[in-house]
Amino acid sequence: MNGFRNFMVGRYGTDQLTVALLVAGMILTFIGNAINSHFLTLITYVIFLACAYRTLSKNVLARRKENTVFLKYWNPVSAWLKTKYNIIKSSQDYKYFKCPNCRQELRVPRGKGKISVTCQKCGNKFIQKS
Ligand SMILES: [Zn+2]
Repeated sequence: MNGFRNFMVGRYGTDQLTVALLVAGMILTFIGNAINSHFLTLITYVIFLACAYRTLSKNVLARRKENTVFLKYWNPVSAWLKTKYNIIKSSQDYKYFKCPNCRQELRVPRGKGKISVTCQKCGNKFIQKS
């Protein structure tokens, strides 16, 4: 274990981009096996080699820069996915809909009948069935 620790000293290790590449590689491996595509298998080898290269790289600054660029695009997607997940999780307690004026996503507690809703973004007032 100490030998491995010494080997990893000064090396970059894993980050969000490496994990994303691993997940993408695993999904492509699964698809490649399902449709029996050698080309996809070849791409997954390249992806897994890139993961190993990034993890063992001693150019920490360059790897950190790559991860920053990745996070710039991934964070909005991640936030959108989390929002959709929370909507699905709480859809038994809340009804979700969009403001007819500004398309802002709104929610009201379920089972309260027809209620008057005021959009917090644009101030539009309308009747909504909960
Ligand atoms: Zn609105």
